[in-house]
Amino acid sequence: MSIFHLHSRPVHLSLPEEEAGASRVFVGSFLILGLTAVFEMGISSVSGSVSLLSDAFHNVADALTGVPLWVAFFFSRKKPTARYSYGYGKFEDLAGVMIVMLVLLSSAFSITRSFGKLLHPQIFLHPGWVALASFTGFLGNEAVALLRIRAGRRTGSVSLVADGQHARVDGLVSLSVLAGVTGSLTGHPLWDPLVGIFLGVVTFLIGVRMGRDVGTHLSDGIESGVLETIRRAALDEPGIREVFRVRARWSGHWMICDLRVVLDQPVSFDESGQRARAVEERIRKAIPFMEDVLVVAMPCAEGDGSSLLSKNARSEDQEPGKYETHQ
Ligand SMILES: [Zn+2]
Repeated sequence: MSIFHLHSRPVHLSLPEEEAGASRVFVGSFLILGLTAVFEMGISSVSGSVSLLSDAFHNVADALTGVPLWVAFFFSRKKPTARYSYGYGKFEDLAGVMIVMLVLLSSAFSITRSFGKLLHPQIFLHPGWVALASFTGFLGNEAVALLRIRAGRRTGSVSLVADGQHARVDGLVSLSVLAGVTGSLTGHPLWDPLVGIFLGVVTFLIGVRMGRDVGTHLSDGIESGVLETIRRAALDEPGIREVFRVRARWSGHWMICDLRVVLDQPVSFDESGQRARAVEERIRKAIPFMEDVLVVAMPCAEGDGSSLLSKNARSEDQEPGKYETHQ
C-alpha cells in the first residue's frame, strides 16, 4: 500500500502589494536615474571628463538592476502554460543575465577610457558644467533615495529601504566627480581619470554581485540556511518524526520546495493528508516567499515503529545525510 500526499498550489498569478508598489518605485527610479545619466553623458562628451562618464554609467547600472523586477511583474500576470508549467519565473533571471552583461561592458568601457586619460592626461573643458552635472547626479540619486525609503517604510519593505540607502550613498559618490573638477582647475589632470577608474570599479562590482546572484538562481542554487529552515519548520509540526530529501530552488523571486516527512505513528489516509497540509503551512509561514510546497507524507509501519515506506523511498533516492552535506 502506498500513501503519498502531494500538496501544491498553482504557480503564483499575481505579485503581492509590496511588489506592485516596488514596481511603481522602480519606474520612478529608472526615469530619474536615466535622465540624470543622459545629462551627465552629454556634459561628459562635450567636456571630456571621464569621471563624469563613469558616474553616468554607474547611474545607468543602478537603474538597470531593477529591470528584472519589472520583467517579473510583467510575467506574473501570465498563467503557466503547457510549455512553461512552472510559470515564467526564470525569465526574470534571463533578463538579469542580459543586464549583468550590459553593466560589465559599460564598466569595462569607462575603466578603459579612464586608463587612456591616465596615459595621456588632459585638462578637461567646461569645469563649471561638469560641476553642475556632478551636482545633478547627487540630486538625482537623493530623489531616488527619498522615493525608495518612503515607499519602503510605507510597505514595510526592508530591501526597498536598503536600496534607498544605496542611492543616498551613490549621491555622495556622484560628488566625487568634483575632485576631477578641482584637479582640472588647479592643473592636476590625473585626478579626473583616477576618480573615473574608482567609479568604473564600483560599477564593475555591481555587475559581479548581480551576476553571482543571477547565476546561483539560474543553476538552482539556494542560499545557505534555507533547507535547514524548511527542515525545522516541518519537524515543529507535532507527529512528524523525520524529514528528509529536502530540496528547494528559485523561480524568479519565488521559491519552490519539496520534501518527505515520516509520521510517528500509523494514521489514516485522510489524517496523513492533514499532517502534510499542516507541514506545508508551517513552511509557508517560515519562508514568506515560498510559492509552491510539495510534501510527501509517509506513515510509519504498524508494529515495529519504523517506516518501511520511507526506507524504500530513501533507497530509491539517497540517504538523508547525503543531502545535508550539500547545504
Ligand atoms: Zn550604486
